Amino acid sequence: MDCRHLDDYYELYVLGAADSDVAQEISRHLDQGCVSCTSRLREAALNVYFVSTLVPSSRPNPKIRARLLARMRKK
Ligand SMILES: [Zn+2]
Repeated sequence: MDCRHLDDYYELYVLGAADSDVAQEISRHLDQGCVSCTSRLREAALNVYFVSTLVPSSRPNPKIRARLLARMRKK
């Protein structure tokens, strides 16, 4: 599956800041269970987490964060 073009968007997606059509594409794609994107997303979530500990105002949207965590636990 060719999904490298999504690579640049995971951090934005985790932050809830990706364009809505990109966000939709990513979430649809993740629903298909793409392994590389799931691990890439996990990486992005960690990056965002580290950044958010440095810059308190850039915390990820709590709703999106909860959804991501739920998704990760399912796997
Ligand atoms: Zn993928």
